Amino acid sequence: MAVDSNLPSLLAAPASDKDSKALQFIEEMTKTVGSVQQRVLREILSRNAETEYLERFGLNGATDQETFKSRIPVVTYEDLQPDIKRIANGDKSPIFSAQPISEFLTSSGTSAGESKLMPAIHEDLDRRQLLYSLLMPVMNLYVPGLDKGKGLYFLFVKPSTKTPGGLLARPVLTSYYNSDHFKTRPYDPFNVYTSPNEAILCMDSFQSMYAQMLCGLIMRDEVLRVGAVFASGLLRAIHFLQTNWKELAHDIGNGTLNPKITDASIRKCMKKILKPNAELAEFVTNECSVENWERIIVRIWPNTKYLEVIITGAMAQYIPTLEYYSGGLPMASTMYASSECYFGLNLNPMCKPSEVAYTIMPNMAYFEFLPLESPASGLVDLSDVEVGKEYELIVTTYAGLYRYRVGDILRVTGFHNAAPQFRFIKRKNVLLSIETDKTDEAELQNAIEKASLLLKEFNTSVVEYTSYADTKQIPGHYVIYWELLVKDSANSPTDDVLNQCCLQMEESLNSVYRRSRVADKSIGPLEIRVVQNGTFEELMDYAISRGASINQYKVPRCVSFTPIMELLDSRVISKHFSPCLPHWTPELRR
Ligand code: AMP
Repeated sequence: MAVDSNLPSLLAAPASDKDSKALQFIEEMTKTVGSVQQRVLREILSRNAETEYLERFGLNGATDQETFKSRIPVVTYEDLQPDIKRIANGDKSPIFSAQPISEFLTSSGTSAGESKLMPAIHEDLDRRQLLYSLLMPVMNLYVPGLDKGKGLYFLFVKPSTKTPGGLLARPVLTSYYNSDHFKTRPYDPFNVYTSPNEAILCMDSFQSMYAQMLCGLIMRDEVLRVGAVFASGLLRAIHFLQTNWKELAHDIGNGTLNPKITDASIRKCMKKILKPNAELAEFVTNECSVENWERIIVRIWPNTKYLEVIITGAMAQYIPTLEYYSGGLPMASTMYASSECYFGLNLNPMCKPSEVAYTIMPNMAYFEFLPLESPASGLVDLSDVEVGKEYELIVTTYAGLYRYRVGDILRVTGFHNAAPQFRFIKRKNVLLSIETDKTDEAELQNAIEKASLLLKEFNTSVVEYTSYADTKQIPGHYVIYWELLVKDSANSPTDDVLNQCCLQMEESLNSVYRRSRVADKSIGPLEIRVVQNGTFEELMDYAISRGASINQYKVPRCVSFTPIMELLDSRVISKHFSPCLPHWTPELRR
């Protein structure tokens, strides 16, 4: 077993008694992975022995790993959808869990374009809080003095909805920030935010961001760390500052609050924070009015020791931009979590982005791993994964997901005690992602098919396509390259029709994409770039010249490799953008 020797001992120099307890807990959990996992499975199965789901597969109250693995199938969301629909429609019988389902957590992607609805039980909040409580004690080992200032964290809630049966459906972070676990968290000098709860909990993304940025500017000297959940969120905040600094500086100079901020609770709490400060207003104006925004983060917040944002997986595309704005500050990706379950944390958070590995905490759920190289050999347990191998993550949760395929591919990079550490490799099937949206190949194909119906009356069809997540500008946007077959050049599709095709594609994409476009405004209008005839053949020639097999060549449905992008862009004959926002409401489609 490769033990990670780069880590300082977690018990070396805790910053406080509380930290010491948290670090001891991590040590205990990571030393006893196998037995903790057995206990977790036993707990989940014994509590839920009488649920319809476990009875359906004849578990008969068994709680051991062997019987569980032999009777319960490995499933995807689609397999569970009929049962989930029943719960959404108001069936309160114990289908998955003996405990009542308290809400649904929404996340990207079902084939019908709707959010997935992951069942949650109330006590899940305790597990989430527990994982959060481990993050600062680990960080304090690497960065001393974080109790001497504050964290500027841009945190947001998103609109919620109700299912026909009356259960709330909302993203996991919206659920957490609205819980008492977050709202009435005890004061912790190591974890003080500049953003007031009132600003974080405001559903209007402009007002929320405005108030959070204003507080961040006012408390600029106290800020020791700057962050958001995902890298894309922090870049949105920088972009927001770029567009709104004049109004922010005006408010700081006059001690007034922009009339666009109409939320009563934000107005009330900002009253206590805002005082006229001409010097600070001038500073903000001087820094923001220059064209060069390189190192803007450390220019405005000079005491920042690190950025805290997830920069693994789809977020890796934002690393260079963040380096530019922060002058190369360390970027800490502290945790790995999902709507289904919070998984684990990074025990070496100040490591290089390419070295980030997450230690899955064995108390969070029961974890199994499908080896990518040899799926037929079966699933292995958390304590049995091997260094260097890649696996798909499968979870069994307290809320009642049993052997559920999360869709993440992870590679084992080492161990901390007996606990494996995983590098996030990718999400299975996801082609395009700007922030929390995840668009897979089937969704893209479906959107292309819907949009190309508009070309029918022009006797035109899409012969080939590929896509690209363009994040060079903020907000990023989807770019779709189309090669068209125009059969009647006297009647080729007009610019307007191709713009409508962009909109039609957006209408067909999943609700997280549309929410990001409409409510969060974190994704820009979808773009279609029409390329010359023969471009995709050139693409194939290029791939073959680099060693691809001509028999097995498939058009990549998403591209990012620079020479390929250059080839495609050099063949573009027209560009088209979605002319307006797609349809989106928080309501679930029936
Ligand atoms: P959701 O269920 O919509 O909250 O999305 C959860 C998914 O986001 C995970 O299954 C991962 O694919 C991705 N994700 C979450 N945390 C990380 C991380 N630290 N690094 C890379 N991807 C992550």
